[in-house]
Amino acid sequence: MNPDNKTIIDRDIALLGMPFDAYSSHLRGPAEAPAAIREMMQCNSANTSTELGQELANNKRIFDAGDVSWQQDPEAFGQLEQKIDELAGLGARPLTLGGDHSITYPIIKTLAKYHPDITILHFDAHPDLYDILDNNPLSHACPFARIMESKLAARLIQIGIRTLNQHQREQAARFNVEMHEMKNWRGPEQIKLTGPVYITIDIDALDPAYAPGVSHHEPGGLSVRQILDVIHSIDVPVIGADIVEYNPRRDINDMTAMVATKLYKEVCGKMLES
Ligand code: MN
Ligand code: MN
Repeated sequence: MNPDNKTIIDRDIALLGMPFDAYSSHLRGPAEAPAAIREMMQCNSANTSTELGQELANNKRIFDAGDVSWQQDPEAFGQLEQKIDELAGLGARPLTLGGDHSITYPIIKTLAKYHPDITILHFDAHPDLYDILDNNPLSHACPFARIMESKLAARLIQIGIRTLNQHQREQAARFNVEMHEMKNWRGPEQIKLTGPVYITIDIDALDPAYAPGVSHHEPGGLSVRQILDVIHSIDVPVIGADIVEYNPRRDINDMTAMVATKLYKEVCGKMLES
């Protein structure tokens, strides 16, 4: 788990790759994201300082826990839960890269054992509240239905939503989701966080102009800066995060890999100060 044999201390940040896209409903590809993002993190095109003034290179509070691995797809979530449990049990905070959005359910399911009152801060074009899609209740379109019906989070705050249909409107009402539809989004002053918060960023929250490397292009979305503004405004402890749905097969000149890397840096910088 820990290639540097580092002693993990409380609130260290554990990078974790999740090369999983079997529960995607449209295209495959996000399984290739951890490798692509790791490569971008080391490409020397940008420095390793964050806008908030944290230095990520050789930072003793950040360590790479590697990628989750498994033999057959149905075992993937079990392996992920085991890894998250191992890290959280040591007091570390997981920052998971890659995968489709289905992975957030097993992550939250595990973190909820340690944090009874999680607020989820969720950036997405889609609410991912389907009760079931394509006969799969674990689809990447369903994780927040599973999380909320199991009462694994105290609050679910969604930002960037622009694909609501009647079923998902009903689901949002049923689960008291605090949904900020893209058409009404003005800025972080619209949300009031009451810690501890878990951040989940679906790259398709961004307008495809900023991030073409996603399976579902949904025009009319957030800018990179609008997401950074929210992240920078967080004033409560961050217990973990994930950056999901980056699809390298759809990327252009690695520009979305760089966006994912930028989001990683600023999320990590915020975690270091929270
Ligand atoms: Mn999503
Ligand atoms: Mn989405």
